[in-house]
This record gives sequence, structure tokens and C-alpha cells, in this order.
Amino acid sequence: MPELPEVEEVRRTLEPVVIGAVVARVRLLRPGYLTPPRAPLVHLNGRTVVATHRHGKKLFCRCDDGQTLMFHLGMSGRLESSPAHLPLPPHTHFIMDLTSGLQIRMRDPRRFGGVWYYPSFEKACAAEIHGVLGVDALHLTAAHLSHWSAARGRLKARLLGQRDVAGLGNIYVDEALWLCGLSPLTLVRRLSSNLIQKLVEAIHLVLQKSLSAGGTTLRDYRNAAGQPGGFAASLQVYGRGGRPCFRCGDNLKMLVVAGRTTVYCRHCQKSR
Ligand SMILES: [Zn+2]
Repeated sequence: MPELPEVEEVRRTLEPVVIGAVVARVRLLRPGYLTPPRAPLVHLNGRTVVATHRHGKKLFCRCDDGQTLMFHLGMSGRLESSPAHLPLPPHTHFIMDLTSGLQIRMRDPRRFGGVWYYPSFEKACAAEIHGVLGVDALHLTAAHLSHWSAARGRLKARLLGQRDVAGLGNIYVDEALWLCGLSPLTLVRRLSSNLIQKLVEAIHLVLQKSLSAGGTTLRDYRNAAGQPGGFAASLQVYGRGGRPCFRCGDNLKMLVVAGRTTVYCRHCQKSR
């Protein structure tokens, strides 16, 4: 599933194609893939795309009059730019034709993703970010997690929940926790401010390294130019359950936390 680095890489590779581009028309090929279902997509015709924005795993595309589309890639969603004359790949559910002759195509075999329409960017933010998502993980500081001293729950579940910090999924949570030596089962209220600071630094380091590599491609993920990311080769724990820890040599443990397969080192990542 695409997480922050992958969605950011899609945004970065989409931006040169869409900024300043004029929308010719927007088409929904799969009913149910757009919210609201009867959104007035025709109002986008002739508008110029002026900005892209990402918060967590959500990607926004804003037009000159404020109309905004929000894309969520879900499990297998892919947002690609392509010349309009090329055949449509299977599972293409949404197309934005640009007057340049390029198309922005959203395909999604498993359909956990989707497209949301908003008449203004403010309405998009109100519905999709404020009160729904925590701070974007790239801007996370220890102060954003100060409420944890009185909070319930365990570390991995809180990080996956998106309300404390947005953008992390199974891969980057496991990687960051291994890096800073915290167990996924740690109760967040037990974390000292010093350990929270270490966690924040580990999250930033893992995300920045992945961004430099263009994100992680396990199978489906491609950026908007169709290229895979290279960070899978740098994963330290994710997908390595049962194999030796790169730090201590113990076999990495696998267990299910918050409904997700979790890999960690019992020796290097102590519960607190
Ligand atoms: Zn270890």
C-alpha cells in the first residue's frame, strides 16, 4: 500500500505535467469510484490546474477557481500521466484529459482507493484533513505527540491510526521502530519525551531515505511517470520476519499488531 513517500513521489512526478495545464474534460469510467457520485465534473472543463498538495497519504489537485480533486491510492491505486492515444490499461476508473493531449489516469485493480470532488480547496481540507488527520509525518515534532503522556494504546496502533501523525503505514512504522529501538507493543503513555524525540527523528530519517530512493515498490507501486521506487532494497525489517536482525543477529519476530503483520527484533526493541 502506498504510504507517504510513495504518494509524495507521485505528487512530485505529477506536478510538472499538471501545473499550468488546462482541463479538457474529466471522465468517470467506474461508477462508485467518485465521491460524491454525482459531483459536477463538467465544471472542471477549461479550468487550469494551479497546485498539488499532499497530506499524509492523500493527494490534492487544485484548480484556479479553487475546485479540488482528492486522490487516495488505497492498496493498488496508480495515478499516471499518459498520452491520450495510448490504449487504456485495465482497471482505469478515472481520466482527466488535458488540452496538452496528455491524460491523468487513475487505475486501481482492487478499488480500495478513490477520487473525491470538492468545490473549493477549503472544503477539501475541512473534510479530508482538519479533525481527521494528524500532522503530516514530514512535519512531525515531539510536541505533536505530547498528549501521549495521557493517551491509551500501543505505539504501532497509534502510529498507524493517522490521527496522531498522517502518512505512515505498515512498512515505515516497522522500519522507524526498529531504527529507534522501540517495541511496537510499547504503551505510548510510558514513553519519555526523550524517547519520543528519538522516535520522531527515526521517522524522519526513514521517510527521507525512502523519498531519496523514490519510495518502496514491493509489487504494484509506480510513480506518475511509471517508474518503480528503489527503497525495497534498503528495508531493514519489513518483510524479513524470521531472518537475522541486521543489528544483533537474533531472528526477527513476526506478530499481528493492530491487524497488521509486524516484524521486529525482541532483543533490539524492548517493550516499556
Ligand atoms: Zn536486533
